[in-house]
Amino acid sequence: MRPDILVVDDRPANLLAMNRLLANIDATVHTASSGNEALGLTLEHDFALVLLDVQMPEMDGFETAELMRSNQETSHVPIIFVTAVSMEQSHVFKGYRTGAVDYLLKPIVPEILLSKIMVFLDLYRQKQELRETVRKLRESQKTIEMQNIILKRLTIQDDLTGAYNRRHLNKMLVQEFYRCRRYEGDFSCIMLDLDYFKNVNDTHGHQFGDFVLKEVARRITCSSRASDLVFRFGGEEFVVLMPQTDIFGTMHAAEKIRLGCASEKFKNGSIAVDVTISIGVSSFRAHQPAKPDDLVNMADKALYDAKKSGRNRVVEFDGVLLEE
Ligand code: GH3
Ligand code: MG
Ligand code: MG
Repeated sequence: MRPDILVVDDRPANLLAMNRLLANIDATVHTASSGNEALGLTLEHDFALVLLDVQMPEMDGFETAELMRSNQETSHVPIIFVTAVSMEQSHVFKGYRTGAVDYLLKPIVPEILLSKIMVFLDLYRQKQELRETVRKLRESQKTIEMQNIILKRLTIQDDLTGAYNRRHLNKMLVQEFYRCRRYEGDFSCIMLDLDYFKNVNDTHGHQFGDFVLKEVARRITCSSRASDLVFRFGGEEFVVLMPQTDIFGTMHAAEKIRLGCASEKFKNGSIAVDVTISIGVSSFRAHQPAKPDDLVNMADKALYDAKKSGRNRVVEFDGVLLEE
C-alpha cells in the first residue's frame, strides 16, 4: 500500500512549492492549511509522516503536534516541524517531549527534505511489514490452538458416537475417586448395555446398528446432566459417571436414561425398532469401592444381574463383588 504524507502550511504558495518538491516520491501527498484541518485529516488517514509548519495563525505547529500526541489514534505519527527559526534557536525542539520528531529549516533545501522523508518512509514500511508479520503470526497461533483443541478432543473421544472413550474413563474415574476420598464427596457409576443388540444387527444390518449406537449415546446425553460424563465402554456398552450424585439420585437418573431409550422407537429411514437397555448402578459412598476400577466392576456386576433378571431394567449393586 502506498504511504500517505501530510503537509501542513497556512500559506498556499508554500503548499504548492512543497507539492512540487514531493512530486516524485513514492507516496500520496495530502495538504492542510491549518492545524484544525490537519487534525481532521490525521483521523481519516494513517499518515507515514506529517510535515508541520510551526508558524501558523490560530493554532501553531506545536499546539497541533501536542493535540496529535494526546490522541491515541494519532500519537504515533512522526512529525517534521518546518520552521524559519535559526539553528541557534533550535533548542526549542530539545525540550519537546514527543515521539519521532525532526525539523527542517526554511528556506528548504530539497536534498535535505527528501533524504529526511526517505528515512521516515522507510521506517513506516518496516513498521507495516512488522505489523503484517505479527498479524500472520497471531493468525497461525490461533489456528494451532484450534487444531490442538480438536486433536485433544479426538484423543478422548469415541469416533462413532462422540461419547468419551474408555481411556478417558480411566482417567476421570481415578480423578473422581480420589477427589471423593479426600473431600468426602460422592459420585456414582452407571453401566448400561443394549438388550439383544445382536438381533438388531442381524435383522437390519450393521449400518442401522451403528445408527442405534449413536442414537443411544445421544439419548443418554439428553437424559443426563451437563456435568455427567458419558463414555463408550466398548461395543454396545456405555458408562456414565455422575459427579456429586449419591445412590438415590443415580438410581433416579438411571431410570430416566432407561426410559429415554425404551419410550420411543429408534427410527432411521424406513426402519423403526424398539431398543431397550439394561443398567447396573454403583455408588462411591453406598458401596465403598476399595479402588477406582472396583466402582465400574460393581456397576458391571449389577448390569449382569439386570440382564439375568429380565433386561430393560435398572439394578443397584448388591454389595458382593466377586474377585476375578
Ligand atoms: P444382551 O441383551 O445379552 O446384551 O444381548 P446382545 O445381543 O446385546 O449381546 P451380545 O454380546 O451377544 O452382542 C453384542 C452385539 O453388539 C454384537 C456386536 O456385533 C454388536 N456391536 C458391538 N459393537 C458394535 C458397533 O460398533 N456397531 C454395531 N453395529 N454393532 C456392534
Ligand atoms: Mg447387549
Ligand atoms: Mg455387551
